[in-house]
Amino acid sequence: MTPVGVFGGTFNPVHYGHLRSALELVERLQLTQLRLMPCAVPPHREQPGCSAQHRAAMVELAVAAEPALACDTRELARAGVSYTIDSLIELRTELGRDTSLCLVMGCDAVLDISAWHRWQELLEWAHIVVIARPGWQLPTAGVVAQWLQSHRLPPEENLHDNAAGRIVVEELRPLAISSTEIRDLLARGCSARYLLPEPVLDYVQKHSLYH
Ligand code: ATP
Repeated sequence: MTPVGVFGGTFNPVHYGHLRSALELVERLQLTQLRLMPCAVPPHREQPGCSAQHRAAMVELAVAAEPALACDTRELARAGVSYTIDSLIELRTELGRDTSLCLVMGCDAVLDISAWHRWQELLEWAHIVVIARPGWQLPTAGVVAQWLQSHRLPPEENLHDNAAGRIVVEELRPLAISSTEIRDLLARGCSARYLLPEPVLDYVQKHSLYH
């Protein structure tokens, strides 16, 4: 069994909230690898001021020393809006139909998942692993709450018994760090040290990002 995870985001910039969660998930879910996948053209938010190439370069630097983590640049290679469903279909084709594939997202992403392109098909291609994030709560009523409820992993089942189709919620070490806060600190001329890896911060400075 070689379960694989994919963690999508803008990573503008990548920080220890992403990285520590990613590593804890590798261990908790016994993933062979977890790929951080920077979104090139986000469908639901403004185009980040920082290019996808810079954002991916920062992810590459952040994961370089950790063999269980990798940067997946497929959304930079694809033209047009970066839809997660397209990436999952590509990944499934590469991994084969029997490999357990886990799409990782934070609670905040789940809250507006019903606006995602072909959202109800996501579980045909992957499991969904939701990170319980400080300050966010999962919906308790409505279409997303029902969807979460009806696909939750039953207690008697192991996530990797199937290749796709289940939802799990994982409570990890809460780290209240966000890219928004890091960008704000840098824009105000404050230090962001110890919120993100040093090589990423060096890259930010070298390329005068976020000033
Ligand atoms: P921004 O502040 O620009 O919205 P962000 O810090 O939320 O950025 P994203 O790249 O948008 O980072 O997030 C990618 C994924 O990582 C999302 O699913 C988000 O919920 C999750 N995430 C971000 N920060 C954390 C954190 N501190 N702990 C756990 N998950 C996080």
